[in-house]
Amino acid sequence: MSSHITAHDLSFVPFISEAEIAERVAAIGQQLRQQYEGKRPVFICLLNGAFVFAADLVRATGIECEVAFVRLASYEGTASTGRISTVLGIDFEVKNRHIIIVEDIVDSGRTLHHFMGQLSQMETASVALAVLLFKPEALLMPVQIDYLGFEIPNKFVVGYGLDYDGLCRNLPSIYQLATI
Ligand code: 5GP
Ligand code: MG
Repeated sequence: MSSHITAHDLSFVPFISEAEIAERVAAIGQQLRQQYEGKRPVFICLLNGAFVFAADLVRATGIECEVAFVRLASYEGTASTGRISTVLGIDFEVKNRHIIIVEDIVDSGRTLHHFMGQLSQMETASVALAVLLFKPEALLMPVQIDYLGFEIPNKFVVGYGLDYDGLCRNLPSIYQLATI
């Protein structure tokens, strides 16, 4: 059993183990396999946080597919408006393709609400969303999650791709901010 870790100035405690993650990823992979086998879907991994989840998920499906990467950045101007800018956009053909967006976590929902809006303007065959973690209490914008790993409380988490100021992405399991 691993114990707490520190990154920069903060302390984190174990929250979701490597085995629990692997079990959920395998289950979602099987669901995707049933839904998409023979359709050659395009997985769009949202950088940076989703890179670990996406790497495991696409392999768990075991189906013929493509993998692409998009990077969005969110800026919060005022409390009520969050603006999202595209740092690395869609530079591949999505027309008539089945798209599966892969995201690490849905917090306010702003990032995905914005990106799903962009995709809905394009003539895709279908768009689905696979998310590892969802914080329902933090949601501000509507987002429809089709494949979900875990619903979690509104607390900051790191590991398995998720960072705290650049650190922790390479931790194999997920940690939660320790409450003092
Ligand atoms: P949104 O608020 O748009 O739903 O989430 C935007 C991004 O905030 C996520 O993709 C993720 O990068 C980051 N984020 C939200 N909650 C957490 C968290 O608990 N831990 C980490 N490391 N990043 C988070
Ligand atoms: Mg992210």
